[in-house]
Amino acid sequence: MSDSILIAGPCAAESKEQLLKTASQLAVSLALSGRKLDYFRTGVWKPRSQPKEFKGAGKKALDWLKQVQAIYGFTVCVEVAKPEHLDLCERAGIKSVWIGSRTVVNPFVVQELADAVRGRDFTVMVKNPIIPDLKLWIGSIERFMNAGVTNLLAIHRGFAQQNENIFRYSPIWEIPIELKVHFPDIPLLCDPSHIAGDKIYLQQLSQIALDFGFNGLMIETHCTPLDALSDSKQQITPGELITLLDSLTFKSSITSPAEDDLRKQRTMIANLDEQISQLLAKRMSIVDIIGKIKNENNLPLVQPQQFNKVVKTYIDNGLRDENYSQFIEKFLELMHQSSIQRQKKV
Ligand code: PEP
Ligand code: MN
Repeated sequence: MSDSILIAGPCAAESKEQLLKTASQLAVSLALSGRKLDYFRTGVWKPRSQPKEFKGAGKKALDWLKQVQAIYGFTVCVEVAKPEHLDLCERAGIKSVWIGSRTVVNPFVVQELADAVRGRDFTVMVKNPIIPDLKLWIGSIERFMNAGVTNLLAIHRGFAQQNENIFRYSPIWEIPIELKVHFPDIPLLCDPSHIAGDKIYLQQLSQIALDFGFNGLMIETHCTPLDALSDSKQQITPGELITLLDSLTFKSSITSPAEDDLRKQRTMIANLDEQISQLLAKRMSIVDIIGKIKNENNLPLVQPQQFNKVVKTYIDNGLRDENYSQFIEKFLELMHQSSIQRQKKV
């Protein structure tokens, strides 16, 4: 995986045993597979949506993390949301922090944190804001740049969207790619764990990110994911992390700008095709249900006004473009015919 950056570790710091066990398993698995861990991650203070949820072990976990650094030689990074968190981290010898997606949405808090790191030797990772707002992400990074932070990283963790139906958070790949165009020298990592919300999607999302030219991955790793007190479904064991990394193709970073661009555009298309095929499959299954309703209630198979509504949807969504009108006409005709065929069978 050459120069790709790897961050792994549990979602939250739960107990000393959990942190040390995860670190020890990571150390062994990574050494056996000849890989190195750039940062050991964990959340000491967790920003949870609801107050009853597990909030992380708090500042006592910093002592446990000190041990993780001392015993395994890992560089630990944790999430900070207040200047006080930075002071506590510094006292524990933790010099790498990330700003979480819920904090990045607030320019007042980000500025406070940027002022607090000024003149101190922190590595700062800035996650994308939880809402899809590129300017907010760029602005947060600029606040840390203006505060003199030279070791900066950006982390893509997906965006909260009402209509996302596959992943927990929408990847909206265009946004991190635009960020990379804006800050070509800042390493851009992908956190597929939070995008996915379920470990079954980690491989797919990680590969897309690598194909887009991301500079590394942050993956939630826990010694016993099923017992995890937060984000249990998306965490994997250190052993599973190695299997995942083995399954990925890490592109060499030495490619021409044209090749790079072509690769990005193709990945964008592949990603869209996947969404289109999933949506089409979903559409067909609904067509079958409609067929059943028509059949059971003796309703006519073809209802022309309904088809006209479908055509209008496509036209209203900008597909009236001269170049596409013929294609759309044929596509809609085919889709309509195929729907009728399916419903006839019902
Ligand atoms: C995390 O990484 O555990 C986390 C809470 O991050 P985010 O801000 O992306 O939700
Ligand atoms: Mn998490």
